[in-house]
Order: sequence, then C-alpha cells, then structure tokens
Amino acid sequence: MLKLFFLLTLSFSLALSDIQLLKKQNNDSNTTLLVIGGIHGDEPGGYFAASLLATNYEITSGNLWIVPNLNKKSIQKDVRGINGDMNRKFSIINQDDKDAAIIKEIKNIILSKDVSLVLNLHDGHGFYRKEDQGRIFNPNSWGQTCVIDQCQLSQDQPFGNLNDIALTIKNSMNKKLIQSHHSFDVRNTKTKFEDEAMQLSLTYFAVTNNKPAFAIETSKNLSSLAQKVFYQLLAIEEFMKIMDIKYQRNFELTVQNVEKTLKEYGNLIINDNISFNLNNIKKYLSYIPLKSKHNVFDFSHPLGSFIKVDDRYIVLIGNKKVTTLKAQYFEKEQKCPEYFKISVDGNVKKIKKTSEFYVTDDFKVLQNNSVRVNVIGYKSKNPKTEAGIDIAYSSIEKRFSIDNDGKIFRIEHYKNNKFCSMNMVHFK
Ligand SMILES: [Zn+2]
Repeated sequence: MLKLFFLLTLSFSLALSDIQLLKKQNNDSNTTLLVIGGIHGDEPGGYFAASLLATNYEITSGNLWIVPNLNKKSIQKDVRGINGDMNRKFSIINQDDKDAAIIKEIKNIILSKDVSLVLNLHDGHGFYRKEDQGRIFNPNSWGQTCVIDQCQLSQDQPFGNLNDIALTIKNSMNKKLIQSHHSFDVRNTKTKFEDEAMQLSLTYFAVTNNKPAFAIETSKNLSSLAQKVFYQLLAIEEFMKIMDIKYQRNFELTVQNVEKTLKEYGNLIINDNISFNLNNIKKYLSYIPLKSKHNVFDFSHPLGSFIKVDDRYIVLIGNKKVTTLKAQYFEKEQKCPEYFKISVDGNVKKIKKTSEFYVTDDFKVLQNNSVRVNVIGYKSKNPKTEAGIDIAYSSIEKRFSIDNDGKIFRIEHYKNNKFCSMNMVHFK
C-alpha cells in the first residue's frame, strides 16, 4: 500500500529562483490551500511533511499547492538560513540579498488570486505554555502551536476568522496526541501592535494583503522526525477539512507509517541515461559516467538535490546525504539504442536502456557491433567488450556493487568512446 504514489497528478513549474511549486488541482472548486515547507533549513518536520503531502496524497476535490523546500540551499546544509533568516525578509529586502529572487517569487505565489489560505510550516523550540513551567514549557516557546498574527481579517474575507480557525485546529489536534504533553495551543503574536520582528515575516506579509495565513510549529523537542511530520500532517488535514478540500492518502496516518514513508527516497535519473534506486545505494560510488557540464538530475522525491564539489556529486534527500557520486567525465552519445537484447537465465529479453533486471544464474548482453559493453566488477579477458559473455554472480567482484548487499551491478554501454546508458543487473 505504501508504494502507491500519486506523482502523476503533480504538475511542476520551475522558475528562475529555482522554487519548486507542485500543484494538485481539480476543476470543481476555486479553493486552494498553499503549503510552504522549508523556509528554515534546520526544521525538517515542516519540509518532510510538505514532501509527503506531495507524494502520498491525492486531492479529489479542491486544490492544493505545495512549495516543499523554499530554502533549499539552507536545507542542504541543515542550517536556519545560509543568507540570514528568510522569514525576516518579507517587509523590505535589499536587492543584493541572495534570497531576493526567492522572496519575490514566493510573494507572487502567495498573492496569486487562486490562493485562499497559506500555511507556513516550522519546527519550533520547546512546548508553548501560557504560564512559565520551566525551560522548555513556557510562553516563549513556539513548539506545538498554530500561530496567528491577529484574530481576524476583513469581515467578508473567506477563512478570515483566523482565531476561530486556529482554535478549531487546536481542539481537534488535542484529541489525537501521542503523549499528553504534546498538546497544541494557539499563539497569537498580535504582530501589528506587539511584534516588530514578526512584521517582517511571511505570514504577516500575507495577512496585510488580506490572505489568511497561519504558521504551524511542531516542537523541535519531539523525539523523532516521524512525530514532527505526523503532527504537521494532522494539522494540514484539519485545514483541508475546514476548507472542504478532499483527499486520499495511501497510508494510514500513524507515526509508524510516517516513519516508513520517510525512508522512501525514490529514484534519481541522471541525463536520462542512468537510473539509481536511492533506497538501496552505497554511500560512495566512483567512476560514474557523467558529462563535464550541464548534468540533469531528475529526482522522484520532491526534496532530492545535489551539491557539486569538484568532480563529486553529493546526493541529498532534504538534509540527509544519501550517496556521493564521483564522476568520470564522458560526452553523451546521441545515437544510442533505446533497448538492449539481454539473455537472462537463458531467455532473451528486450531491456530498456536504464532498467534494472533480475537474474538467478547468469546473463549475457547480446553483441551489437557499434556498442561496447562494460560490466563493472567483471574481470574480462576480452578488453574490447563484455557483450556476448555469460556472466554469473560468482564472476563479479562484490566490492563493485552499487548496493550495500552486494547484489546489484552496473552494465554500461558506450559507443564511439562516448557514454550511452547504464542498466543494473540485480542478482536474486
Ligand atoms: Zn522556523
């Protein structure tokens, strides 16, 4: 059940600032919830919740827009803001500020006439209490709150009764707590009169433009990422209920299931000719045939990204380093076969250029005059090509596997000394 993804319903739009906006739309309603994750790079509960919303929820009525990783570069480094606090740049911003393009674009998205309500997801310190009950439980804590800047927008604004909505969210969440001290409350910052810092924030920018906006803060002091994501999703679902946005998710919402789903890193396709399963990949792989420039990394996971350091590509899901690919540079050959004929345990099959296939005993890539085959880890006596040879598990050096179990190996296809594509052979 967990494996069903609803990615087909997503439409992507990428702009100059690199903001990723995912839209799940229906034609039956004008109501749109905008969920923003990752404004602070060290608050993974918020951005992993936004990501799960993108991959594991189908919206069957109404509309959901998701910006899963607003501050991507800070998420990669797991810091609040590499260019300072992004949530303090919504009033005035210096045009030289490195966040200026992102701020300009997210403001446009917030102000889009389609957007009915904005949620900004955070992980906050401690557990908010109206009375001081110690270092973690006190009125200055942000954790486990629904934050509003004021009680009410103008009378006729749909969803403008911010305080009533926040109270409804709080009350329904408090019926579903994992532990009683995780209780939620409404924190009204009374921004206009009392909180100068918050006057620079995303939600205050929204409400001053008459857009209903809330922050959801789960606690940084919760014991696991899964608990934070669980509470974020509970809150978002309550907002969808209030907005009459209908959804189906492909798992039952429990902390255990969230934990399982968080481990699904999906696939990475590079230059349309290599496909890695990121759920089972070694921490370091070398001699990966990449181009010297303009490599296209296409992740199925919304939080997938990479950092290039010299000829190494560090692959991340959110703040988690999944693997490092050390490149060997090749040009990409343009005229390559889309399929290869491969004998798998004695049966010839047409295998797509980037597919993984399963073998019990042995396999053999059938000869194709123009293509040279290199099976990484196979010790060949024929230096030209490793096509036309029966290759068994026993004849491959296990240290060349791409997975930790020593079962999956690379088959690389080259033509005219340029790289074509890579298949994976998976021994059962
Ligand atoms: Zn935050």
